[in-house]
Parts: sequence; C-alpha cells; structure tokens
Amino acid sequence: MELVKQMLSGKTLSLAKLISLVEAGGKEVPQIMKLIYPYIGKAYRIGVTGPPGAGKSTLVDKLTALLRAQGSEVGIIAVDPTSPFTGGAVLGDRIRMQQHYLDEGVFIRSMATRGSLGGLPETAAEVTKLLDASGKDFILVETVGVGQTELDIIKNADTVIVTLAPGFGDAIQTMKAGLFEIADIFAVNKADLPSANNLIADLQAMLLLRSGQNWWNVPVIRIEAVNDVGIEELYQQIEKHRQALIETGRLSQQRQQQLRDEFIEIIERKVTRDLKTLI
Ligand code: GDP
Repeated sequence: MELVKQMLSGKTLSLAKLISLVEAGGKEVPQIMKLIYPYIGKAYRIGVTGPPGAGKSTLVDKLTALLRAQGSEVGIIAVDPTSPFTGGAVLGDRIRMQQHYLDEGVFIRSMATRGSLGGLPETAAEVTKLLDASGKDFILVETVGVGQTELDIIKNADTVIVTLAPGFGDAIQTMKAGLFEIADIFAVNKADLPSANNLIADLQAMLLLRSGQNWWNVPVIRIEAVNDVGIEELYQQIEKHRQALIETGRLSQQRQQQLRDEFIEIIERKVTRDLKTLI
C-alpha cells in the first residue's frame, strides 16, 4: 500500500491519512496493521492521566518540550471527553500546544470519547502503532482518569503517570477511580500551592500501606507544570522506570500480553459481528 510506504519514509501527511482511515474503521485497517507490524515496538509509550484540571495538558506540553530539546520525536494522542451537548471535544484548549503544532518532530492527534462505538481503546492502540511505525521515539497518551474506557486506553502505556493537584482529586478519590493500581509515577502538580504538601503526604502514606512490589517503588514527584519546575526529575523517573522494566524482563512481557489481549479482542469483535449476521 502506497500510503504505508510514504508514512514509513517519514511523510507526515500520509501518517495523518492513515490515522483517519484507522479511526474510520474501514475494511483496509487489517491490511494497514499487517504492513506496519514489522516496524512497531521502538517507541516508548507514556500514559498521562488524572482528573480534569490537574494539569495534564500543561505537563504533556512541557514534557514534549524537554523530549524535543534532547532530539526525540514525539507523538501525542489526546483523548478528550466529549460534551454531550455539542458532540465536540470539550477541552479544546490545545492552544497551549501551538508551539508544537509548528514543529515537524511532533505529531498531535485528538480523539473524542464519544461516537467511537465503544471501540476507542482499540482505535487508540492502532493509532499508537501507526505513530510508533512512523518513527516517533516517544508517544504520550493523555486521558482524563474517569472511566473504564480511559483506563483501558492507558493500560497500554509502558509508563503511566498519574497527575494530581490540590483540589483536583485527593488520595482517596484516586484510589476509588482505580488510578492507584495503574500509577507507575505520581506527579503532584501545582506544588506552588501550599496544600500540595498534604496531598503528597497522603499519597506517600497510602503507598506505604500498599502491599509492595519489590522491583519498583512508585515515586511521588512534585511539579509545577506551568512554571516548568520538576519536569526534568519527572523525566528521570520515567527513564528509571523504563530501565527497571527492561532489566526485569517486564517490558517485553507487558507488550506481549497486550498483543495477546488485542488479538483476542479482534477475534471477539469478528465473532460477534458474524453471529449477528446469522441470527
Ligand atoms: P488538565 O485538564 O488536567 O489537562 O489541566 P490543564 O493542563 O488544562 O491545567 C488546568 C489549569 O491549571 C490551567 O489553568 C493551568 O494553567 C493550571 N496549572 C497547570 N500547572 C500549574 C501549576 O504548576 N501551578 C498552578 N498554580 N496552576 C497550574
């Protein structure tokens, strides 16, 4: 397929077209996925989640700037909760990302939760693979930590950063939302506000209570995304987590498990579709 060839040779427009095809779920999707399969697995996938208002977009913005400064290419998938009234993406505040829009080394794609017929996690996984095959070094997936769909999307990441901020999700709410289990790193944002200290103390106390894993201690990093403070340390923790995943064999294990899960999902969808045409 010509589009895939062009995408692999670095054509951004072809990448955008392929993503649109995948999002539309057309019959050519299996063929596309097959063609790009040999080229995936190089990108490192970072999930950023947390309650609305915690500072995820600002964090993704600053992290992208850091990654670009070290010469890495970045793909960003921003999953926006969709407004039930307008049908459009509510956040819409991608204005802060504008500096990256002009940068050839950054590819940003927003995806809306609504209207994807429940297949959003699958579509997000496919778009991630396209970005990976296109040669991005890092893929940042930003979702609001609110529901199962978002959790399903984020669990495909290699490192998950849960972003919290004083007044935007306390430690207990975080636990209830299922974010405690998926966090590899906690980023407590808005550390310029005094109440951030309480949130950090609560999180640390809860992490101590948790039955420990011995290969990775979930760190709590204080950041001020808007002031570009703590982003460097956050990135160092991401790299540390990545090393720990590689050294313990977990990175390849995790990725194999994800491929297996995706395979089963594809079969399930196909069987359901076929069954519906029969009965
Ligand atoms: P999101 O909804 O999680 O993506 O959050 P945003 O990135 O849109 O940030 C929400 C608000 O918090 C914005 O008005 C930001 O300017 C503000 N914000 C982000 N980082 C900081 C910070 O470090 N300190 C303070 N005080 N405000 C911040």
